[in-house]
Amino acid sequence: MSRFFSNKYSQLIPYTPGEQPKDTKYIKLNTNESPYPPSEKAQEYAAEAAKNLQLYPDPECRQLTEALAKGLGVSSDEVLLTNGSDEILNFAFMAFCDDSHPAIFPDITYGFYSVFAEINGIPYEEIPLSGDFTININDYIGINKTIFIANPNAPTGIALKTSQIEEILKSNPDNIVVIDEAYVDFGNESCVPLIHKYDNLLVTQTFSKSRSMAGARLGFGVASKALIQDLNTIKYSTNPYNINRMTMAAGLGVLEDEEYTQKNCKAITENRSYTADELKKLGFSLTESGANFVFAKHDSFDGKELYLKLKERGILVRHFDKPKISQYNRITIGTKEQMQTLIETIKSILEGK
Ligand code: PMP
Repeated sequence: MSRFFSNKYSQLIPYTPGEQPKDTKYIKLNTNESPYPPSEKAQEYAAEAAKNLQLYPDPECRQLTEALAKGLGVSSDEVLLTNGSDEILNFAFMAFCDDSHPAIFPDITYGFYSVFAEINGIPYEEIPLSGDFTININDYIGINKTIFIANPNAPTGIALKTSQIEEILKSNPDNIVVIDEAYVDFGNESCVPLIHKYDNLLVTQTFSKSRSMAGARLGFGVASKALIQDLNTIKYSTNPYNINRMTMAAGLGVLEDEEYTQKNCKAITENRSYTADELKKLGFSLTESGANFVFAKHDSFDGKELYLKLKERGILVRHFDKPKISQYNRITIGTKEQMQTLIETIKSILEGK
C-alpha cells in the first residue's frame, strides 16, 4: 500500500477473480465461462461497430435496451444495462443500502457481495446456509434489511423456487430484495415476471454465461421504473458510458440469435448431467446444481489436492480455501469432450497414476 492510499480503503480485501494463467493451455473449468464462442451475429455486429469507436456510445443504450426489454416482456424503462452484472450489483449496494438498510446475504455465496458492501462502507450480515448448503428462507422472512440472493446460488448451484422468493419479497415490503440470476438460464425459472407484482424486487442477469459474452462485459437489472431511475442516478454519477459500442452491438447480435443461445444452454445442461453421473460413479457427492457448474467433493480424496493435481495435468477448476467448502471444487461445465477429459483425468488421479 502506498502512503497516498485513502484510509477509507486501507482494510479492503479485493475480490479474487478465478485465475487466468498464460503459462500453459489449460482446459479452463474455473470461471463459469461458456465453452462456446459468441454467436456469429454478435461477432459481425461488434466488428462493424469497431469502425465508429472514435464516437462515444449511446449512454441510454436505446436500441439494445428496447430489444432486451421486448424479449423479457417488460418495458424499456424497467431495464438498465451495465458493464457486466457486477456493475448492476455494485449499483444496487450503492443505491439501496446504508446504515439503516444494511445488506444481508448467505455466508456461502458470490464472493463479490461482501466486497461491494465493504467498499461502499455498508454494514452487512452473512447468514449461514443450512448443513446441506440450501438457503433456509425463514432466515430472510421479515428481516428488514437489503437482501442479496444468487439464484441459483454460487458456488453451490442450488436454486430456490420462485414461490420461496415470493415469501421473502412479501415479508420485506419496505426493503429491496436483489435476486442475482447470473445462472438462471441453465434450467431454472426467472423472477423477472414478478417485477410487476413486487415493487421491492430487483433481478440481475448477465450475458457472460449462457450468452458467451464474458469478455464483452454486459449485464443488466430488471425492476420497477422507480428502482431503475434510482440505479440510473448512480450510473450517471459514476460512468454514463458504461457499455462500449462493440459490446452494445454484440449484445444486439446475441438477442437476434436466441436459437443459438438455447442450443448452447441445452448442451450445457446435458453435459452437466453427464458430468454429475460420472463423478458420482467415482465416489463424489454433489449438490443439485441448476447452474453451468457442479460443486463436488470426493468421499476420501482431499479437495485442494485434487485441484492441484488437476492443474498439474492441465485442467483448471475453482477451489475455495474457505472452512465449510474446502473439500469441494467448483467445476464449470464445458464441452462434452472437455468433460470426458476431466473424468478420465480424475480417474487416473484417484488411481494414483
Ligand atoms: N453473480 C454471480 C453469482 C456470479 O457468479 C458472477 C460471475 N462471476 C456474477 C454475478 C458477475 O458476472 P458478470 O459481471 O460477468 O456479469
